[in-house]
Amino acid sequence: MAMESYRCVVCQEEITAKEHSYSTRFFNMALCRKHQEIQKMAKARQAEVEQKPSPTTIETKNTASVEAKVLEGAPMLPEEK
Ligand SMILES: [Zn+2]
Repeated sequence: MAMESYRCVVCQEEITAKEHSYSTRFFNMALCRKHQEIQKMAKARQAEVEQKPSPTTIETKNTASVEAKVLEGAPMLPEEK
């Protein structure tokens, strides 16, 4: 078997071995290019939210789930600076 096939875990799109190795290295899961971008944006937005929490900027349903995750993982104790 010379050809191995990889698939995006989200949309089951076939991806190349190169995309697969890149994706598993950076995101810990197999993602197509489209979902890599989405994952990247989600990460960036999450970092943004952690930096300056402002609920008014969070309006799309995509970020709502990210916000929920951040809240879930947020420590209850105030952080020392
Ligand atoms: Zn995908």
